[in-house]
Amino acid sequence: MYSEKLNGYPESEYLMLSGIQHFTFCRRQWALIHIEQQWEENLRTVEGNLFHKKAHDGYTAEKRRDLIISRGMPVFSRELGASGVCDIVEFYRDDEKGVSLYGREGKYLVYPVEYKKGKPKEDDSDVLQLAAQAICLEEMLACRVEKGYLFYGETRRRIEILLEEAVRQEVRDAFREMHQYYERRYTPKVKRTKACNACSLKNLCLPQLMKNPSAKAYIAQRIGEEEI
Ligand code: SF4
Repeated sequence: MYSEKLNGYPESEYLMLSGIQHFTFCRRQWALIHIEQQWEENLRTVEGNLFHKKAHDGYTAEKRRDLIISRGMPVFSRELGASGVCDIVEFYRDDEKGVSLYGREGKYLVYPVEYKKGKPKEDDSDVLQLAAQAICLEEMLACRVEKGYLFYGETRRRIEILLEEAVRQEVRDAFREMHQYYERRYTPKVKRTKACNACSLKNLCLPQLMKNPSAKAYIAQRIGEEEI
C-alpha cells in the first residue's frame, strides 16, 4: 500500500521527471510508457528526441561574463521522487539575491530553460515540466527559482514562465499520483478523446482500451445502443 514518504522518496523509487508531460497529456499514456515500457516511435517522437539530443549532448557549462550556461544538467528531487536532465540552466550573477555555487565566485539566480521542437501546446504539460525542474533545482541548490523559460523550435520564441505556487502544487499532486500508480503497477483506463488522434501510442493503446471496456462503460454503451 502506498504511503507518503516523510523524508522524500529513496533514489530506487525515482520516476522520470519528463514523464510529467506524458502524464498531463494522458495518464494512460504515461503508464503505458513508464510502467509497461511500451513505446512506439513515430515521426514526431523521433524528431523530438533528435531536437533534445542537440540541446543536451552530455553535461557542459560555459561562462559568458555574468552568465553561466549549463547544458544537460542532471537533476533530482527527493520530495517529488523524480530525476531527469535539464536541457539548459542559466545562472545569472546577482550577489544580492542569488545563491552560491560550488567552485564559482559570487552568487547567482537560477533559471531553467526547456527546449521544445514544436509550438506552444494547448495543455500546460510544458509548464509543469519546467516547474518540476525548478523544484529539483531548488532542492539541490537550496534556492528559490522564481521563473524559467520555454523555447519553441517552430516559432523560435522563448517564453518567460513565472512559477507560481498553484503550478508547483499541480506538479507535486501529479508525481504523488504517478507514484501511487507505479507502486501498484496500475495502468488506468481513460475515456477516448480527440487527443488520442495525436497520441504516439494509439495503435498499441486503443485496441486494448476498446477490447476490455469497464462494466460502467459497457452498460453506458448498451443503454446508448438501445436509445438509438
Ligand atoms: S490513445 Fe488515447 S487513451 Fe490511449 S494512451 Fe493515447 S491518448 Fe491515452
